Amino acid sequence: MFKSISINKSGFIDKAKIILSPNFDNRPTKSTISLIVIHNISLPPGIYEGKYIFDLFTNKLSPDDHEYFRSITNLKVSSHFLIRRDGSLFQFVSCLDRAWHAGESTWRGINNCNDFSIGIELEGSDYDAFETNQYDCLKELIQCLIKEYPIISIAGHSDIAPSRKTDPGPYFKWDKIKTCFDQLTYKS
Ligand SMILES: [Zn+2]
Repeated sequence: MFKSISINKSGFIDKAKIILSPNFDNRPTKSTISLIVIHNISLPPGIYEGKYIFDLFTNKLSPDDHEYFRSITNLKVSSHFLIRRDGSLFQFVSCLDRAWHAGESTWRGINNCNDFSIGIELEGSDYDAFETNQYDCLKELIQCLIKEYPIISIAGHSDIAPSRKTDPGPYFKWDKIKTCFDQLTYKS
């Protein structure tokens, strides 16, 4: 579907659908992009294919649309990427900028993973299997990113914030992206 996707010098994937989020800022100058963080998200939880993830990342989520939204409507969050159930790829923030996806987090002793990571959300939950289309897109995306940036690790949100987060959850099959780990040039 995304055969040989590429990333441009501005940090955007050419074939992604771009919906810009205001929720980003500059990466600290000394940070290199070295980590990919995989998440799951669905809004309302467990419901797929609505517009609410886009609303959340663009600060347009209405607390009146669902009771769950009242608890998150004031969050200022984003991710670099979202892969929907059909495998379509959306980008909200340039990879060169810092998206706000990780929150309080630590990876191998370094705090604030947003500084040095790229966030990829899979539309899904901790209770459902992900779609083959999503793994296919994810693999191509990661392969593109590790060619462009000095990525040394790929982790789940639950790996970098284990006391707070469970995503991408038990249904995320890490072995489906095993080849991506094998392709990391800058192994740590
Ligand atoms: Zn997450």
